[in-house]
Amino acid sequence: MWQTLWRSLILRLVGVSLLLLLVVQLAGFAVVRASIERNARGQIARQLDVDENVWRRLLEQNAERLRQGSALLAADYGFRSAVHSGEEETIQSVLENHGERIGAAVTALLGTDMALRAISAPVPAQALVPTLALLAPQLASSPQGSQVAVVEGVPYQFVMVPMRAPVVIGWVLMGFPLGQPLADEMRQLLSVHVALVVQGTQGPAAVHVSTLPAPLHGLVLAMGADGGELVSADGLLLARSSPLPSLNGQVHAVLLRSVDAVVAPYRQLQVLLSIITAGGLLLFALGSGVMAQRVISPLRSLMRATQRLSRGEYDTPMEHTGRRDEIGQLSRSFDRMRLDIGAQQREIKHLAYWDRLTGLPNRERFRDAVVQAMAQSPGEVRPLCVLTLDLDRFKHVNDVMGYAFGDRLLQAVAGRLQALVTLPGDMVARLGGNEFAVLLQGAGAAAAHTVAQQILASFEAPLALEEQTVDLSAGIGIACWPADAEDADTLLSRSEIAMYAAKRKLSGAVRYDASIDSSSAQTLSLLTELRHAVEHNELRLYLQPKVPLHGQSGWAAEALVRWQHPQRGLVPPMEFIPFAEQTGFVRQLTLWMFEEVARFLALLPATAGALRVSVNLSTRDLLDPELSQRLGDILARHGVAASAFCLEITESAIMDDPQRAEAMLNRLSEQGFKLSIDDFGTGYSSLAYLKRLPVDELKIDKSFVMGMEAGEDDAMIVRSTIDLAHNLGLTVVAEGVETAAILERLRALACDEAQGYHISRPVPAQDFLAWQQRQG
Ligand code: C2E
Ligand code: CA
Ligand code: CA
Repeated sequence: MWQTLWRSLILRLVGVSLLLLLVVQLAGFAVVRASIERNARGQIARQLDVDENVWRRLLEQNAERLRQGSALLAADYGFRSAVHSGEEETIQSVLENHGERIGAAVTALLGTDMALRAISAPVPAQALVPTLALLAPQLASSPQGSQVAVVEGVPYQFVMVPMRAPVVIGWVLMGFPLGQPLADEMRQLLSVHVALVVQGTQGPAAVHVSTLPAPLHGLVLAMGADGGELVSADGLLLARSSPLPSLNGQVHAVLLRSVDAVVAPYRQLQVLLSIITAGGLLLFALGSGVMAQRVISPLRSLMRATQRLSRGEYDTPMEHTGRRDEIGQLSRSFDRMRLDIGAQQREIKHLAYWDRLTGLPNRERFRDAVVQAMAQSPGEVRPLCVLTLDLDRFKHVNDVMGYAFGDRLLQAVAGRLQALVTLPGDMVARLGGNEFAVLLQGAGAAAAHTVAQQILASFEAPLALEEQTVDLSAGIGIACWPADAEDADTLLSRSEIAMYAAKRKLSGAVRYDASIDSSSAQTLSLLTELRHAVEHNELRLYLQPKVPLHGQSGWAAEALVRWQHPQRGLVPPMEFIPFAEQTGFVRQLTLWMFEEVARFLALLPATAGALRVSVNLSTRDLLDPELSQRLGDILARHGVAASAFCLEITESAIMDDPQRAEAMLNRLSEQGFKLSIDDFGTGYSSLAYLKRLPVDELKIDKSFVMGMEAGEDDAMIVRSTIDLAHNLGLTVVAEGVETAAILERLRALACDEAQGYHISRPVPAQDFLAWQQRQG
């Protein structure tokens, strides 16, 4: 498309200038033509002036010749004596001979009284007599003159000389016809056309003689006595009419000259001019085409350059920068622009690829490095591993110590990681927030584990910052290529999955394993399915009894959710609760549970006695500022007291945002809810910290309880936890009681309540009363 557009631009440029040039040339041509015509007419008019003069001179010469001839005759002795003696015959023959000799058509002898005595003429004498009667007196009065007269339609030029002996004894008169030879002579002399128009006393005017072809005679006559223009086959003729004073009629000579003949040389010039114009136009077209090309081809190359720039190619220098004209300037400034943009682009890239805070490569850069490392060994596969590392409790540090401190902490962690990862090709990056990644090239899983252990070991040394010491800990996920993933993105996301697993399990470093991921593969559709589950009543309330160990009264149970999935059957909570927590859906789930429990409690027969049900809350619930309001509404709806509930919160849920958690716990406690710390011992919170919270109960995590039989360590932990809790005025619940032996040991350690498979597995709510009754 550009191609045609440019072409049309050239065409338009050249076309318009050609058109202008053509108009100018045509105007010039017209002016030249008009002035040639005018000049030609002027020139012809001047020539006709000359022609007319010559014509008159010619007639005078003629007359002079006749006069001389007449004078010769008049002086001839023999003739004179014959006249004297009246020898009529002699006179007659002399007149004839002499007239013939000098070419006079009419030769006559007149008496002193001007009467005709003898005549030699081509017409009968009588026809001449009236003319002579008029002629003779005139000629006699001007002896040097001549007179034209029309005789029988033919114009004659007459002269007359006296015959003296010594007195005048008679007159010799001679007449000469104005005929074709005269016209031809004019034509030969001056190449002017001559036509003699004669109008006798009777009859119409006629062309007597003429050098013009006969068909034009009519036109000459039509023109009349004033001259004018005449269009012949040979072109335009300009005519000048020159009247001859004559007797017995009118005679005028018409002199004609062809305009074309005068213009002809100019015509040639004009043809030449046209050829030059045409040539000029051609040259101009070529020249302006070339010029346009010279302008447009750089434009086109500029256009290509801008296309390259928009594609992000900044390396090809501009063309035409060497030119000295404006195009060169334009090209040079474009080139400068290219370099500037390129530099800016590099800067942007740098910003886009590097983390400002730590100076480490960022996620993009890291990903690129992984992709490149994978591409480097297409033949023999050189394995590589990616470690993803997420600092524990970083948010807490940020909140408590401030962001500046958090930043310093991240920088310090970056420093420690860099100190450990030094092999060429390896890389430490900050993926974002408190997440770091390490690329180990040419390393297998074992080597990756070693590095992970080194990192964890280096974290064991507390970090001293601003006179504060911070304990560092992190979850590390390991994924190796090609074993764990085929491409970079999968590798990265699997190492993250492994990292989350590590954090969940609280076990330093975890290598990716398909089993970790199997649940996460299903998570996509899970959210829709979960919503569907709530709406279609697929969730079930299960209750697991809690029994008192020291004869206290009252029944208790923990509410646990199950999902009765139409295809998958009964889905255990660990397969969807973590997901529900991630997505925030857990809040709806908690409310559903709470409502179910409230309904259950409200419908409990009086015979069942007081029952306190524990409901699990997650971080998201605690951070919901309207939680206490929502729970209060449900209580009011079912007419159940808050004291019938215990709310179980894990340490980590509190630690995610301690301040807000504390505020919410205070409100819930004020509302009358009992509060319990779930999974105690797995987190980091100290009892001293928990003391500040309005907590009623501690639930020792099942991992310790279950480990009591095997090792003394766990038993020690359980024992000291029970003691400390009691010191703080808290009741202690042991969960995960699977054997009678453990139950007894717990009783011996003064644990207040027990929960576990040994007592009962979680049962559907409607089966709980039956269980209760079986206990008696
Ligand atoms: P949890 O709060 O620690 O709940 C106790 C878990 O220990 C239950 O697993 C229970 O079945 C199991 N358990 C009880 N006695 C024994 C025993 O003797 N041996 C062993 N090995 N396990 C025992 P469950 O029901 O699979 O629940 C798992 C986790 O799911 C719960 O841990 C809790 O964190 C979460 N969860 C369950 N229901 C809900 C709920 O309604 N809301 C929330 N937020 N979380 C829930
Ligand atoms: Ca619990
Ligand atoms: Ca628990």
